[in-house]
Amino acid sequence: MSDFLEENKRNINQKLNSSKLISSKLSSSKLNSHNKISIESNVNEKNKIKIQNCINNKDSVWKMTLERLDDTMDRLGLKPGMQKYLRTPKKVLEVAIPIKTDKGTIEIFKGYRVQHNTNRGPAKGGIRYHPDVDLDEIKALAMIMTWKCSLVGLPFGGAKGGVEVDPNTVSKNELEHITRRYTFEIIDAIGPDKDIPAPDVGTNAQVMAWILDTYSMDKGHMVPGVVTGKPISLGGSQGREDATSRGCVYTLLSALKVLNFYNPNLTVTIQGFGNVGGNAAKILYDMGFKILAVSDVSACLYNKNGLQPYDISRYLNQNKTLIGYQNAENLGRDEIFNIKADVFIPAALENQVTKETAEKLDVKIIVEGANAPTTPEADILLKRKKIFVIPDILANAGGVTVSYFEWVQGNLSYFWTKREVNLKLRDIMEKAFYDTYRFSQENKVDMRTAASMLAVQRVAEATSLRGIYP
Ligand code: NAD
Repeated sequence: MSDFLEENKRNINQKLNSSKLISSKLSSSKLNSHNKISIESNVNEKNKIKIQNCINNKDSVWKMTLERLDDTMDRLGLKPGMQKYLRTPKKVLEVAIPIKTDKGTIEIFKGYRVQHNTNRGPAKGGIRYHPDVDLDEIKALAMIMTWKCSLVGLPFGGAKGGVEVDPNTVSKNELEHITRRYTFEIIDAIGPDKDIPAPDVGTNAQVMAWILDTYSMDKGHMVPGVVTGKPISLGGSQGREDATSRGCVYTLLSALKVLNFYNPNLTVTIQGFGNVGGNAAKILYDMGFKILAVSDVSACLYNKNGLQPYDISRYLNQNKTLIGYQNAENLGRDEIFNIKADVFIPAALENQVTKETAEKLDVKIIVEGANAPTTPEADILLKRKKIFVIPDILANAGGVTVSYFEWVQGNLSYFWTKREVNLKLRDIMEKAFYDTYRFSQENKVDMRTAASMLAVQRVAEATSLRGIYP
């Protein structure tokens, strides 16, 4: 092993053993300003409802992710060579996806797959279908996956994929063609031992089934381990559908314990009513907590007596929008930030908790269901407001954890019950929460910094141990 790798390893251990960690550089670092752009996006072709869709400054998500990584690596005392290594994605693919549309015309979509790091195991990460997908966003999300898998102790590295498409504006047939051609274009890079995709924003179990079929046809036999988040009838895992939300809830319950804040009348607001937000609302509702408000891209629903998420879900399935839902006040979607509650769960997209929206938030705990929902500027404000943040790489790791279970079950062709899955998930989420909390207390750093340091240190150690090939 080279000297530089040995030295890095020694450095990490020394730094971790020392409680004298350097004070936060975030507050003094120059932070980017986040310009919000608005565009018109037709999210409901059928009803022709045009609503404002928020575009995030994607460039800033990548910069923000690097900025946080740099801070973490400095705290860990990593050498410049190792820092360069961990900042750089291992593989970046950009592909053109031509399809023949239902009308017989040719359309080209742009797709990406990024593998950030595979030193701890095959790459793992979702595939996003969204009109604003771009390479910087995918690079950031791939890197976040590396830290997430490391933090909860899964034997995976990080990856992410995306296609620049609004899945609501193409037919099911076109979506299938986009998915199959995208899979074909990245087929050499993925596989159960190389890189395992899963659903993310705009993709679902059906999309995973198409990827599985395309990959399996190419290999000449069924390969269940190539994707996770697939339908149960194709080897999907029990409990995968709501695993991310369940993981959020397990970390929230652990936080309530350590903060001595458990209260049966706990009030919750949730931004995003998709897979993560919608299922979190249902689980918390079933536990008796009061869901005061939920929002999605169309609107925010508020009821001071509490919402019924199952009823909202039925309405959303029928109408494809929250607008017009009767049993709640219909507010503008960003009103979610103005509603006082005990817990806020951002479960939509990146960069939603900004300096401006953090200013408005009157909550005690934030559980980051979404990836990178909080900007570094907002972090400073949240700290000042003494809001306890359960960071994304911890809070939303339940999804990839059950994806790991699905991969294990598929590779062994031995399947577990939902109860087994949920119990194993709870063990992993609670351990990750308490490890992070303990580290944050011992080293007097916030939960985000603690999570990041634990995660990056493990990847740096794996890199040191493996050395640099050749
Ligand atoms: P989804 O597509 O099912 O839902 C996204 C939701 O966000 C939708 O309700 C959409 O209307 C809403 N939304 C979009 N822009 C909004 C805005 N500006 N204001 C309010 N709502 C808005 O996606 P998902 O799978 O639930 O993922 C949500 C987030 O969670 C993403 O950041 C994703 O990367 C992250 N995540 C998802 C999983 C998973 O297993 N699905 C796992 C880990 C992390």
